[in-house]
Amino acid sequence: KIMNPVYNFSAGPSTLPKSVLKKAEAELSNYKGSGMSVMELSHRGKLFMDIIQDAEKTLRELMNIPDDYSVMFLQGGASTQFAMVPMNLMVNNKKADYVVTGSWAQKAYEEAKKFGTPRVIANSHGADLSHIPKVTRDMIDPEADYVHITTNNTIEGTAFYDLPDTGDIPIVADMSSNILSEQIDVTNYGLIYAGAQKNIGPAGMTVVIIRKDLIGQADSSVPSMLDYAVHQKAKGIYNTPPTFSIYMAKLVFDWLKEDIGGLENMAKINEDKANLLYETIDHSILFEASIKDRDRSWMNVPFLSKTGDEELEKKFLKEAEARGLVTLKGHRSVGGMRASIYNAMPVEGVQALVDFIKEFDQKNS
Ligand code: PLP
Repeated sequence: KIMNPVYNFSAGPSTLPKSVLKKAEAELSNYKGSGMSVMELSHRGKLFMDIIQDAEKTLRELMNIPDDYSVMFLQGGASTQFAMVPMNLMVNNKKADYVVTGSWAQKAYEEAKKFGTPRVIANSHGADLSHIPKVTRDMIDPEADYVHITTNNTIEGTAFYDLPDTGDIPIVADMSSNILSEQIDVTNYGLIYAGAQKNIGPAGMTVVIIRKDLIGQADSSVPSMLDYAVHQKAKGIYNTPPTFSIYMAKLVFDWLKEDIGGLENMAKINEDKANLLYETIDHSILFEASIKDRDRSWMNVPFLSKTGDEELEKKFLKEAEARGLVTLKGHRSVGGMRASIYNAMPVEGVQALVDFIKEFDQKNS
């Protein structure tokens, strides 16, 4: 039996705006009178070309992406970017500096080792992952081809609020779990990448935003599919792109622009949702947030029993699920609970969780 409403707190793939799903449902088998689904359209035909061009145009508007940046909708998830970034960018000095603030950042660093000599400049794995280190210019190798950061740590629940000062060295950012959650200045970055399955749309598509002068450095031995220059030259259709994921992303971009009113508004909503949840957890008798200070993520909120009572956590998860508050289990590496409250999680969902935490507290303490 499906509960109505169900609020899905999954870290990814995560909830999508209901209005977007309804729109996709309405045109699923007959897109714009073509008698075909978007899934069936030629990726070089006009109907699909309009979709991919609109998607890029709206994303550029939302994020204020300047003309000297390319936007690409690639495949292989953020994990492919862990390799594609060093293959394309770690080429001049074969060095790069990685700020390792969580498990995903660690994975990015490990992958880069296959292509040169990356260095961890702050917060090595296993050290204190509940804080974002301050990165200053003197910590950075002047010969680094780039500095890699993970702007939101999906598992740990931390986020960058101050960007490192890297001078002329480009910042490469994995924004998989907080892209489009607030307005950022794209010109502070050399390259931004994000897997789609959190704030963009269904899995299967990866957004890459790259400063054009950084394209075209890859060695000729790099496979074509992994060379940004090949994708740029082919204007996004070097091979068959993930057409349906791109279509869904376009609907999400439209929703952000038209229904939400842009990223400034989205950020206000996200900040309010996060504050409401953190405040409730901070006042809880039984639970506490894993992250205590200003590095708290607006997107992923891990919390756990104050006394490490795993039975109590299990009971919480089970009763939450019975109420339609689903996928609240913490990542297997950290345990406890994690509420992911991405863009598409409505305020009502957070309110329902907050009400449940308060009620559970009263009954069990
Ligand atoms: N980077 C971050 C910050 C993530 O949260 C994830 C997935 O959760 C990944 C990378 C890996 O993404 P993908 O599964 O698209 O390869």
